[in-house]
Amino acid sequence: MEPAVISDYKEPAPLAKEDPLTSMMRRFDVAAHLLNLEPGVYEYLKTPVKQIVVSVPIAMDNGEIKVFEGYRVIHNDILGPSKGGIRYAPDVTLDEMKALAAWMTWKCAVMNIPFGGAKGGVRCDPSKLTPLQLEKITRRYTANLLEILGPERDVPAPDMNTNEQIMAWIMDTYSMHMKRTETAVVTGKPLILGGSLGRKEATGRGCMIVTLAAMERLGMKPKDTTVVVQGFGNVGAVAARLLWEQGCKVIGISDISGGYHNKKGIDLDKAAEWTARNRTLAGFPGGEPVTNEQLLELACDVLVPAAKEDQITRTNAGKINAKIICEGANGPTSAMADPILQERGILVIPDILANAGGVTVSYFEWVQDRVGYFWSLERVNRRLEKMMKSAFTAVYETANRYDVSLRIGAYILAIDKVAATLKLRGIYG
Ligand code: GLU
Repeated sequence: MEPAVISDYKEPAPLAKEDPLTSMMRRFDVAAHLLNLEPGVYEYLKTPVKQIVVSVPIAMDNGEIKVFEGYRVIHNDILGPSKGGIRYAPDVTLDEMKALAAWMTWKCAVMNIPFGGAKGGVRCDPSKLTPLQLEKITRRYTANLLEILGPERDVPAPDMNTNEQIMAWIMDTYSMHMKRTETAVVTGKPLILGGSLGRKEATGRGCMIVTLAAMERLGMKPKDTTVVVQGFGNVGAVAARLLWEQGCKVIGISDISGGYHNKKGIDLDKAAEWTARNRTLAGFPGGEPVTNEQLLELACDVLVPAAKEDQITRTNAGKINAKIICEGANGPTSAMADPILQERGILVIPDILANAGGVTVSYFEWVQDRVGYFWSLERVNRRLEKMMKSAFTAVYETANRYDVSLRIGAYILAIDKVAATLKLRGIYG
């Protein structure tokens, strides 16, 4: 069977859907076509290895039983144990997990990390759950996945609405069942439980490193560069701050409560103080209020969408007013928006490269846990910088060689690597 390749990237079907799985598959198809991927290999790489749906019942505080649905999708484990975060959100779906798991496979391959790709989640609204309920959900979800998880099998990490505490509960639940402390079963843990220095900031730091690398290619100097960041969580706030420290002027920031624009530049210390005190940016006095939609269309040099999926779509791609987009989130741009941005000459640093700093330091954490020797922050950051820069160069060169966008270049690099590994390992059976 011929793979369903798309002959011309610039002619998407007008009514094509804009969701993570459609977007991931569309880019995968384009790259597979350019690589002349064998139909069997195409079929193999497009299909997740495992898709697990578990029911997660917990007793609420009044004794009433509530049942949540949990997922873990392992897209591929040919390069090593599968790796990827766990998210808690009311709109988590299996299809979304499939897209995010595949992105993890491509991300690890782009970064040259010996991991496959996975993603998990529980459909719940964490803002409506007490810490005790969250702990119960986490422990039951972990217990349901015991045969899947393990330092040599599948290694979760934080993602949307999950944090160090949740990773600590995963580690403890798994360890209780194994009858030994097994720190390397999960990354993004608190430092005293075998976490790594620099892990929390790693995704935002990675964004900063690749943005500077892209700016250098375009001859842009930090002091003349304006930046807008969507999302003020673990990724956006750190990316904004580090770009600011590099001398860039951050003129727009936002979170779920809305955005703030200040042409003279936003004081990131004040923004951080504000969110530490008020939890969100709501009411922040350091700029003119704008909506999240308006924020994305602000005139700037670098736009960092670091909030959630499908923020830049065919509807607003024509109105994006930036030279560089650095995708801090997973899937913030739909595949339908890709050709529009490309035509307008906007350099997009794709998510599977731009936000790979997180999984890279997760890899460092896993290595440190297994060796039992912990690195200094300086060593973590130095190694992260080296790996991000060389991945950027590899993606840039692949894109040039094939005359495609950085995104398709990254997919080509990743798919080629996984396909080559598959060829060497062969198909068992
Ligand atoms: N959730 C993060 C991501 O999407 C980190 C995954 C990890 O460290 O395993 O890349």
